Amino acid sequence: MNIPMVDLKQQYHALKHDIDQALEKVLESTHFILGPNVQAFEQEAAAYLGVKHAIACASGTDALHLALRAAGIGAGDEVITPAFTFIATAEAISYVGATPVFVDIDPRTFNLDPTLIEAAITPRTRALLPVHLFGQPADLSPIKELCAKHNLLLIEDCAQSFGAAHGGRMTGSLGLAGCFSFFPSKNLGCYGDGGLVTTNDDGLARELLVLRNHGSRERYHHAVIGYNSRLDEMQAAILRVKLKHIDEYNRLRRRNAHLYNDGLKGLCLTTPHEDGKGVHVFHQYTLLIEGRDRVQKALSDAGIASAIYYPIPLHRQEVYRELMAGVSLPVTEQVAERVLSLPMFPELSPEQIRRICQVIAGAL
Ligand SMILES: *Cc1c(COP(=O)(O)O)cnc(C)c1O
Repeated sequence: MNIPMVDLKQQYHALKHDIDQALEKVLESTHFILGPNVQAFEQEAAAYLGVKHAIACASGTDALHLALRAAGIGAGDEVITPAFTFIATAEAISYVGATPVFVDIDPRTFNLDPTLIEAAITPRTRALLPVHLFGQPADLSPIKELCAKHNLLLIEDCAQSFGAAHGGRMTGSLGLAGCFSFFPSKNLGCYGDGGLVTTNDDGLARELLVLRNHGSRERYHHAVIGYNSRLDEMQAAILRVKLKHIDEYNRLRRRNAHLYNDGLKGLCLTTPHEDGKGVHVFHQYTLLIEGRDRVQKALSDAGIASAIYYPIPLHRQEVYRELMAGVSLPVTEQVAERVLSLPMFPELSPEQIRRICQVIAGAL
């Protein structure tokens, strides 16, 4: 029994009728860019997430980039963010000419440790950019308090947290802007690249619409240098079909996580911590484990995929090495050496999970 990290085929087969029909309609319409599906998806996503505006764009990386630029963050500014995340979080900060300032994480949730943020705030700090890593909302209550106290903007990296909630509100609705990715393997994924920025701020929404479409407020009138960063109609049509099922997909991810927790009980490893402050949607199921190489090899020998998200923290990446010389993030560094992510997708079966747990128990 081979078990991949993610199996997108089962989901496609289950939705094939609706997706094929939606795609055929787009093909027949020949309206491929900024048409009715993008507009409808933006409205449906905004309603689902409980925000006033949702602006679709070409990727999650672009969502972060456009949000930072629309918020007026640029050269000389600092943005506080974790180093234990995908590179895109920091890349977007660098794109606008600002400097990422990395703060260490909580060893249980893998998210920004709010108690360490204040010491990193300087007169140049403009924004906090927490990541809701692996689908668990960052601890936003103290983070929002710090934003209010120091007059900072809150921009959420929601690439892994579509449908996750904090204190009864969806991630992406709690700050100035929420930035989502629809990369195929994300909780809500399309069949290519896609992204979305959410906001309750009318001015920011207007600016985002202009920036994603060549800085154009009116056709062939260009007020600012913008980008070509649009979600296309085919991807929007796919996302509209999948959005109807996202609650069920996230429910199954949570069920699978709890089956893993039960199956791994008593073993010498740490299962993911749910902080109880919101709803974790388990984009990844990530263990802390000693002897990771041995376990990974046993899994691989049994035909079971596993992955390390993320092996090299951002302050240790070649691009940031010079800028971050002397920066030490002990928890991030320890965690990066011990994390192991197991297969996780809604269609993963209880039988497959039992098998994975058996192999891990055998290896330990
Ligand atoms: C996937 C991801 C992104 C980037 O999204 P793309 O759509 O791949 O550009 C940004 N941040 C995090 C945390 C991600 O996981």
